[in-house]
Amino acid sequence: MANKKLVIEYEERSAGLADLKPYEAGILRRVIEICKEARESGNNPFGCLLADAAGNILMEQGNEEVSLNGDCTAHAEALLMRKASQVYTKDEMQKLTLYSCAEPCCMCAGAMYWGNLGRLVYIGRESELKKATGDDARNPTLNLPVRAVFASGQKDMEIVGPILELEPDFMKCHEGFWNPSNTNNG
Ligand SMILES: [Zn+2]
Repeated sequence: MANKKLVIEYEERSAGLADLKPYEAGILRRVIEICKEARESGNNPFGCLLADAAGNILMEQGNEEVSLNGDCTAHAEALLMRKASQVYTKDEMQKLTLYSCAEPCCMCAGAMYWGNLGRLVYIGRESELKKATGDDARNPTLNLPVRAVFASGQKDMEIVGPILELEPDFMKCHEGFWNPSNTNNG
């Protein structure tokens, strides 16, 4: 059988606070607080929240991989999508926004796809996170843009990010946390 080459076309974009509604900066600052709370509770410093189109916060979620006995699916966004999809219909999910601290991994992007999330806003770039985590076994960050995942699907989700003004505040939550063996992993 001939080798197959998978080529995914997607558009790399970034955004800024000026692209968001005025109240959304406050929501994203709350997301960074959730990251800090996750770290303080012994979990990995990641967090997200779900809000409606008026900015009302419906659910908050931090990473719980340690709290849930090593559950490898307990990333904040996957946990939130699992909970939200049991409360909201797919039509309702289509009208909601998930605000995440970082570009979601392909597992979490998959949960957003299957859960019919309408809009994602994220702060930090996966590439920056990968520089911090390196190959640390707790989070050997992938290099697979969320837009590439959705470009492979059958329906759109609005994706806004990274929000570069807030990325340093998010990355601060990771200072001294990871122990990569490869230091040149950018
Ligand atoms: Zn994830």
